[in-house]
Amino acid sequence: MAYDMLLLRFGEITLKGKNRMRFEKAALMHIKSLLRPYPAVEILREFGRIYVLLNGEPAREIIEALKQVFGVTSISPVKIAPPRLEEIIAAAKDFVRELPADRAIPFKVNARRVWKPFPYGSQEMNRLIGGPVLQASPQLKVDVHHPEVELRVEIREQGAYIFSEVIPGAGGFPLGTNGKAMLLLSGGIDSPVAGWSAMRRGLEIECVHFHSYPFTSKRAEEKVIELAKVLSRYAGQVKLHLVPFTEIQTSLARTGQDNLIITLMRRSMLRIATRLAEQSGALALVTGDSLGQVASQTLPSMNVIGRATDLPLLRPLVMNDKEDIIQTAKKIGTYDLSILPYEDCCTLFVPKSPSTNPNLRIVEKIEAGLTELAEQVEAAVKGTETLVIRPHEEVKRRSDQEEGAAVPDKWF
Ligand code: ATP
Ligand code: MG
Repeated sequence: MAYDMLLLRFGEITLKGKNRMRFEKAALMHIKSLLRPYPAVEILREFGRIYVLLNGEPAREIIEALKQVFGVTSISPVKIAPPRLEEIIAAAKDFVRELPADRAIPFKVNARRVWKPFPYGSQEMNRLIGGPVLQASPQLKVDVHHPEVELRVEIREQGAYIFSEVIPGAGGFPLGTNGKAMLLLSGGIDSPVAGWSAMRRGLEIECVHFHSYPFTSKRAEEKVIELAKVLSRYAGQVKLHLVPFTEIQTSLARTGQDNLIITLMRRSMLRIATRLAEQSGALALVTGDSLGQVASQTLPSMNVIGRATDLPLLRPLVMNDKEDIIQTAKKIGTYDLSILPYEDCCTLFVPKSPSTNPNLRIVEKIEAGLTELAEQVEAAVKGTETLVIRPHEEVKRRSDQEEGAAVPDKWF
């Protein structure tokens, strides 16, 4: 049996009263962009729902694509029958014929008469459909309280919609409906997941990545570009800002404060990200921090690092376990890229014992002693290269860079 239509439902966003139109429109745009490869489909909008008429396009494949649409809570493939009793019954029989016949399946019919001129009421329809369907499919047994299969029949003027499967959607809020934020994107497992979580919550994101070229390689950068590309699948496109961080790192390393180097680097990253956020109208920063995961993510570290920005610092993963983060990374398609063993600017500088309890006053004093730091932050902002990344497009670079140079023996 081929399905005729997909029914997409919205959840939370219906709570948002007058914003609902804006939210549904944003989801509609997202759906349209994902359905571009399927020219025959038609998209219809209704209060709290979107219908995708398949017109022969493949249901399962399209469902997979639409599972990426933020704001959509669930998807049901639908069979449409003409709104006449005999035809509804025939279609309902067809529908359950596909169920496995090897065991007793608890079942119920749930009919709803939306089109009032239809001659039978909802309760009456439950019986009128249920009887013949049970007769035709002996493996079904009625269980109105705990049905495994609930055959839903919505009778409307234009047709009766018959469906039972309810496939979970991405949930959250439609793309961009909660404003814009700047994601600090490293090459690790966490920050791409944090970015996806932020997008799922209705944030448009731009990505910023700090590199220490030539001590980090071109391949390390390509990895980040690939990660941004995966994220762009969920948004149509994302901007990626590549920030030259070598000079700042070198200055910070020269202070000889091995234990505080990560704290100092993170603070400078936040300052630069804040400047870039201001330039692009982003109202918050997003990081992949998870409480206690590493030295720079203890509460005292987060406290001292976070003070370097006055923008809200969003940490979607802060209370998540690593295993959960990995599961999400696999689900959204970033995990395999994230575990590729290319160096990150910070891994070049990992000290023997990074501080888990940095002292704000000491950190501020070190920074005050670095008279060139403010200028270097400005220079890094100016020297930032911005790429626009789209899911299926080659990335155009400002310049083609050389392979990574050897890291000097002694940084500190
Ligand atoms: P991730 O897996 O995201 O790298 P992590 O657990 O390895 O996270 P850290 O390396 O300590 O943690 O980084 C913490 C956060 O700081 C990252 O999640 C990311 O948001 C940001 N960050 C770290 N390095 C960079 C970088 N080179 N460019 C941009 N952001 C970075
Ligand atoms: Mg990392």
